[in-house]
Amino acid sequence: MSTSLSGRVAVVTGASSGIGEATAEHLAGLGAQVAVLARRAERLDDLVARIERAGGRAVALAADVTDAAAVRAAAERVAAELGGADLLFNNAGVMLPAPIEELAAGQWQRQIDLNVTGLMNVIGAFVPQLVRAAGERGVADLINTSSIAAQNIFPNFAVYSGTKAFVTHLSRHLRAELGAKNVRVSAIEPGIVGTELQGHVTDEGARAWLEGSKQEMEWLTPQDVAQTVGFVASLPPRANLQQVTIMPTGQA
Ligand code: NDP
Repeated sequence: MSTSLSGRVAVVTGASSGIGEATAEHLAGLGAQVAVLARRAERLDDLVARIERAGGRAVALAADVTDAAAVRAAAERVAAELGGADLLFNNAGVMLPAPIEELAAGQWQRQIDLNVTGLMNVIGAFVPQLVRAAGERGVADLINTSSIAAQNIFPNFAVYSGTKAFVTHLSRHLRAELGAKNVRVSAIEPGIVGTELQGHVTDEGARAWLEGSKQEMEWLTPQDVAQTVGFVASLPPRANLQQVTIMPTGQA
């Protein structure tokens, strides 16, 4: 059966949980072959098994995106085993809010290393494959996970928001640069999604704020974002959704 992403080869980073995991399953359900990348190999193996039981094809790439050489090696495997990527969901990220005066320099650095440098390592390794695929097939997609934090002001989220503002602005520039080569570039900006992301937060005030928000509204699910990514990649090649903001209905 032909579906909207039949014949496409997708790479999903941050695929061992949350938004990435749901998106890998959704893209596979739409017919794409999927390479799933994160550090936790066992979780990736489970995901690959689930996708294959449902009739799809998937490959696990256990790698740390902050390690540029490891990401290049993963890209070589995608080229060798799946013929190269034409859809990259560049999604791995971490959120560690805290008041700036706490001077949590280690947490600032972790967010910058993963959300900025890691994202760039993945772009560097896979853009040549996207450009090649777009030249051959007429379209490829680079979809970066940003956040509503790139647009709105959230006290104590300054460093995280700064990294996501980088992702959104970078995406707009890359769209202008790569669109002429038929590579569409999009930034997805979700509001709060219930995932493991909130579990990494150590600051008490931020944890209380998140807990309060959970009581006040129904958060998005990873599947809500997965469907959005599937929609973006299924549009006709002439149409590029540059920026998509998806919010919980109850989040201001
Ligand atoms: P999760 O914590 O559930 O997922 C994060 C993923 O990133 C995991 O698969 C993790 O896997 C992977 N990851 C973390 N560090 C690395 C690394 N060094 N190398 C490779 N992979 C890594 O959170 P979400 O699904 O919520 O987050 C996905 C993206 O969505 C992030 O960019 C986040 O900023 C963004 N986002 C999330 C929102 C939310 O409310 N949840 C809202 C807006 C944006 P592993 O540990 O196995 O490596």
